[in-house]
Amino acid sequence: MTTDKFWSTMAKRAEPYVPGLQLNNPDIIKLNTNENAYPPSPKVIEAIKDAASKDLQLYPSPTADRLKESIANHYSLSNDQVFVGNGSDEVLAFSFMAFFEPGETIKYPNITYSFYPVYAKLFDIPFEEVPLNDDLTIEPESLFQSDGGVIFPNPNAPTSLYMPLASVEAVIQANENKVVIVDEAYVDFAEASAASLVNKYKNLLVIKTTSKSRALAGLRVGYALGDQSLIKALIRMKDSFNSYTIDRLALAGATASFEDKDYFNQTTEKIVATRERATKQLEAIRFDVLPSATNFLFIRHDTENAAELYEKLLEKNILVRYFDVPLVNNYLRVTVGTNEQMDELVHKLKEIIE
Ligand code: PMP
Repeated sequence: MTTDKFWSTMAKRAEPYVPGLQLNNPDIIKLNTNENAYPPSPKVIEAIKDAASKDLQLYPSPTADRLKESIANHYSLSNDQVFVGNGSDEVLAFSFMAFFEPGETIKYPNITYSFYPVYAKLFDIPFEEVPLNDDLTIEPESLFQSDGGVIFPNPNAPTSLYMPLASVEAVIQANENKVVIVDEAYVDFAEASAASLVNKYKNLLVIKTTSKSRALAGLRVGYALGDQSLIKALIRMKDSFNSYTIDRLALAGATASFEDKDYFNQTTEKIVATRERATKQLEAIRFDVLPSATNFLFIRHDTENAAELYEKLLEKNILVRYFDVPLVNNYLRVTVGTNEQMDELVHKLKEIIE
């Protein structure tokens, strides 16, 4: 029975995001949602255990000052240039509310993170999906002079391709009266972050997550870096919605992660090395592998059909991601796992192709 006579217009117009499968099968090699190949730092686990053993009866800090301070130190910014939220998805949602306006068309690439149209429709914000170049890179000029603002991931998802910082800067400069949001979920695996531009541009908001490079997808902590006035607007949204978006365990774990720089650097380097190694292995079996600046690979075979490869890999207990959308429906998106997992992937792909 439908209950939609009780639904608000907002509930009716929502077209919810569909996340990648989270199968609870220990036999499956899970390469479908770009989680980290390694567990979080042991210091993070210790900090969470410690936090769990005391004061859970008390609310967490609504301002998350300690976590903000660790993040601010990491990027050489001040606390009031940092916002933290329950995963970067929540930070993205607050950003759409805080900076984009019904009636003013925003721009983002036509192949990109599929949560953007979900937020745009929910908050009634018109959008223009600008086409990628033929090589699937984002054309910076396509994002110039937007009526309502700009959002794009760098590196882009699911293409894995990175836009050099000079081009990012050109997009920011060409939209000086609107907010440009750079979603840097994967930037720690790339060349450079736009965080270094935050002191220079009042219209730049950089959004990041601990879910990928910090191996904390299960903890749900995302953050934004930007001018104090942008951060103030985000805080207004959060405090009009839920004062305590980050729980005590997440605050403790995420703070410990920013304080353990060695572990972060080591695991990130290992993933980048595996990415380059797997790229060569896949090219050797005739995959076209886009030059990834992330912890995933976007790949296409010169004869095999991607949808069929997806199904056949799943039969062999390897889960990757397939998007049945024009332009990229012959690609697979494969998270970079450990060397062993990638060897197994290549081995199974050889079996399928031969
Ligand atoms: N942005 C992009 C481009 C992503 O791929 C993801 C992960 N699906 C997110 C944001 C959200 O990550 P989280 O909510 O885990 O921080």
